[in-house]
Amino acid sequence: MSRVYNFSAGPAVLPEEVLREAAEEMMDYRGSGMSVMEMSHRSKVFDDLINETEADLRELMNIPSNYKVLFLQGGASLQFAMLPMNLMKNRVADYIVTGQWAKKAYQEAQIYGKANKIASSEDQTFSYIPDCSDLPISPEADYVYICENNTIYGTKYKKLPDTKGKLLVADVSSCFLSEPVDVSKYGVIYGGVQKNIGPAGMVISIVRDDLITDDVLPGTPTMMKFKTHADANSLYNTPNCYCIYVCGKVFKWLKSMGGLEVMKERNEKKAGILYDFLDQSSLFAGTVRKEDRSLMNVPFVTGDKEMDAKFVSEATKAGFVNLKGHRSVGGMRASIYNAMPMEGVEKLTAFMKQFEEENRK
Ligand SMILES: *Cc1c(COP(=O)(O)O)cnc(C)c1O
Repeated sequence: MSRVYNFSAGPAVLPEEVLREAAEEMMDYRGSGMSVMEMSHRSKVFDDLINETEADLRELMNIPSNYKVLFLQGGASLQFAMLPMNLMKNRVADYIVTGQWAKKAYQEAQIYGKANKIASSEDQTFSYIPDCSDLPISPEADYVYICENNTIYGTKYKKLPDTKGKLLVADVSSCFLSEPVDVSKYGVIYGGVQKNIGPAGMVISIVRDDLITDDVLPGTPTMMKFKTHADANSLYNTPNCYCIYVCGKVFKWLKSMGGLEVMKERNEKKAGILYDFLDQSSLFAGTVRKEDRSLMNVPFVTGDKEMDAKFVSEATKAGFVNLKGHRSVGGMRASIYNAMPMEGVEKLTAFMKQFEEENRK
């Protein structure tokens, strides 16, 4: 068996302990004589599993009791529609566009009402977070929407926007559980799990309970109502059982690591190694304004497309894979989620240093 250092933006690296445990339990989960993949979602075994998973997430994120945790399908992208369907009572919402994912959410909301782009960083290829201290919030806005960590561009809000009393809705797909958050500041905080938590195909939406009602846009399908899933404890229909199981293992791993405070320190240290190197490198440079840098996604370039391609190719051969930047930005991107060990970043940085020496102009 040989494992690589996987810098994929998602689906992404998972903790080896989790993969090993899942493998061990493949034939017989807790004496049930079957894999979690094979069992009824209505069974006692699975009911215990989903309840334990939710309880561990609540503990990790310190989720207040007036928030529901929903395990939903359709990925983060289906939330782009589900949010306006459930929240757009006045059919107005304000969007801050800081990258492709925020833009997609903004465009989707236009199907259901008036979506206003109240700030954007598109003028500089989304390389920064706009000033959100005095935004032109619409008086009628049902919510203000952000993508908190921009997976493609490598920016992160270090401070939440002043929404002037409006509900804040945030996509945290690529920074989920990377640091502590104050859930009570959000109306809805949600993320696809395949970046920092588990396998692809599921989104976790944490929704304040007063927002879960039957008062949704006319024509909203049953499956698209938060209430449908909240009333059924995420078991209205068959959920992504195996994904919930793996996420649960990751929650236990995070607890064993010491929780989100510890993860934050670890992530700061890990990202710091890479950013410190980039800041003094004569070949590589980060692409993001310093104060807006993500701890999870680190884009960088050499400024020369051929050199970028050479680097990606040599890195791959050396066991550092999925470093090619998103097709819309080019260059490189190292996604260094919770499960990327410190050693992976140290070795990547050493490899970059060596590449720099060998390719000095
Ligand atoms: C990956 C990603 C998405 C899309 O997730 P899907 O599960 O593929 O729909 C949305 N938002 C952010 C921030 C992402 O990183």
